[in-house]
Amino acid sequence: MSARPQWYDSGLEHIWLPYTQMKTMRPPLAAVRTYGSRIVLADGRELIDGVGSWWTACHGYNHPHIAQAVRHQLSHMPHVMLGGLVHEPALKLAHRLCDLLPPSLTRVFFSDSGSVAVEVAMKMALQYHLNAGRTGRTKFVAFRGGYHGDTLGTMAVCDPEEGMHAMFSGILNEHFIVDLPRDDDTASRFDAFIAQHAHEIAAILVEPLVQGAGGMLFHDEHCLLRIREAATRNHVLLIADEIFTGFGRTGPMFACDVCDVVPDIVTLGKGLSGGTLPLAATVANSEIFAGFWSDDPGQALMHGPTFMGNALACAAANASLDLFESEPRLIQSAEAGKTMAHMLGHALTAPGVVDVRVRGCIGVVELERIEDLNGLKQAFVDEGVFVRPFRNIVYLTPALNIAQDDLEKLCTSIVAVLKRR
Ligand SMILES: *Cc1c(COP(=O)(O)O)cnc(C)c1O
Repeated sequence: MSARPQWYDSGLEHIWLPYTQMKTMRPPLAAVRTYGSRIVLADGRELIDGVGSWWTACHGYNHPHIAQAVRHQLSHMPHVMLGGLVHEPALKLAHRLCDLLPPSLTRVFFSDSGSVAVEVAMKMALQYHLNAGRTGRTKFVAFRGGYHGDTLGTMAVCDPEEGMHAMFSGILNEHFIVDLPRDDDTASRFDAFIAQHAHEIAAILVEPLVQGAGGMLFHDEHCLLRIREAATRNHVLLIADEIFTGFGRTGPMFACDVCDVVPDIVTLGKGLSGGTLPLAATVANSEIFAGFWSDDPGQALMHGPTFMGNALACAAANASLDLFESEPRLIQSAEAGKTMAHMLGHALTAPGVVDVRVRGCIGVVELERIEDLNGLKQAFVDEGVFVRPFRNIVYLTPALNIAQDDLEKLCTSIVAVLKRR
């Protein structure tokens, strides 16, 4: 292995990395270049990427169409504030997102990260009730196993463990974290709970079909329909957090599409800009928007991220949507899922594997436990693949259009490494 680049050691003294115990971490890999589903390291090694950079790179890295759109935008206008100014990339994107979503969802609020998009959704829901004179609707209902972000507001609606509710008790707002209504038993408890507490609930938050960061946990359409019905029956808003599931990750463009569940608010992020630039969106239905429509400035939505609707990010997102139109991305997503179902299935005979499941372009191998997470990560790198197991989960969320050879290599590496354990 050649020497580390000169920026590596000096910079590592000063950077603080995510979700990392900096004292015991293994030296992170130095990435210098990407293309397709490949990450090239400073020492010349090349890894096949199984993660898509936290699920953002839905078309693979450096797609020429996105790169060209960003370059074009960069030469004209990288950014202007959305206060008092609008521009074509943002307006076009808002229009296109509403065309893709159910017709009732008509208003797009842009931000720069998923957590903020969820914060905005929560704020919209709270103020929607306040503007209508309904005080007391200050609580959210979210689900065990859920993940909605890392900011203080969103941590409070994550799974209590994920959101570190114990460590931050007394600091986080207290909301209702309940079981998903998966079967008749949990559904009747859920229905009763919502009916009993409706007067205090602003909205229910759910990651439709797949709870991502909480452990790649799947639930079915019936579960989602039950949540929608309970929300409707009790005049509680439904927020679908599609930050992970959106843009073909679970198969259709949005997870809610599979069962025609229409949420009142949708949050989007991750794949939105095709993995190129930070961008997120909160999309509200016309009824919620109407709740803010007033001659009273005090009833406006008081939120405005500095880089809201960044023109480069919106140009990237528009180019990403072009690709969903011009390339058979959803078919590729389904094909990748078939390959993963077939090939990851072989992991079932590896020691400690308790489940293999696939939904859309998400492949999951669940183990009883993973003792040495760092060792496992290293074993994948040694195989030439970038796979990031967490907790007791080894998973693949590759580019939806990953080359078949690369996907097969990812799957065989996972099976081989797990069989060697
Ligand atoms: C990643 C994620 C978020 C947070 O997005 P950030 O861009 O990391 O702030 C919120 N909700 C879901 C479902 C996510 O997967």
